[in-house]
Amino acid sequence: MIKKEYIIISALLIVIIIFSMLIMFTIEKPAESPQMPYRETLANNSNDSGTVEVIRNIGNPNGEKVAYVVGVHPLEHLTHETLVRMLPEMSGLNKSYDIYLINVTDDVGAYGSGYDDDTDPGRQNGQNLAYRYVYPEILKGNYRLAIDVHSNIGAYEFKTFVFSPLKEGLGTEYANEVAMNCPDIASYSPDSTTSGPYLTIPLNENGIPAFYFEEYSFAPQDDKDLHINELIWAVDGLNLS
Ligand SMILES: [Zn+2]
Repeated sequence: MIKKEYIIISALLIVIIIFSMLIMFTIEKPAESPQMPYRETLANNSNDSGTVEVIRNIGNPNGEKVAYVVGVHPLEHLTHETLVRMLPEMSGLNKSYDIYLINVTDDVGAYGSGYDDDTDPGRQNGQNLAYRYVYPEILKGNYRLAIDVHSNIGAYEFKTFVFSPLKEGLGTEYANEVAMNCPDIASYSPDSTTSGPYLTIPLNENGIPAFYFEEYSFAPQDDKDLHINELIWAVDGLNLS
């Protein structure tokens, strides 16, 4: 009788152990997946005028790699935040996206502070961080395209537009194609840019096509959402060569 009970208890214990192991395996698998987006700090130094982070692995991890950059000009943050909120929420993306986030902490400034584009210290701080930390990462990161996200106070002929600072090349071709596929985004090239030499110009010149997305700073949030949505899907549909 006692022997029989031992056998039953042993059998039950074996069954419990097997089930526990099965449960452990099924719980561990998703945590090990390398395909989830994750956030990484690229620069956080007290002698810099801000920090730089990246959110990697958004969209299809096996797709062509595209980099978005936000925060080069800190006052334009409402447009940056729109992209950072919306892109990771999209499902069914074809390409793989990383978002580089520049967070200027020194001399962020305010609209109407009296600085012009070239002397605003907050803008220069963001441009320096872009050149020092974002440019080399994109250059060596196997990206097929980079998009620098900005906004403007409405001094141009168009308010929401894309362009590459180089008037020809793949950056310009991709920008034109995006504008063609977006009812609310124009293709329009301002005469000059202050940030071009710190990111989009050297990228284009060194083999990474790059263009700007410009939003109107004072557009209602619903419009900003609409335009970012158009941009995201037009970029995702690009035939990158
Ligand atoms: Zn800007």
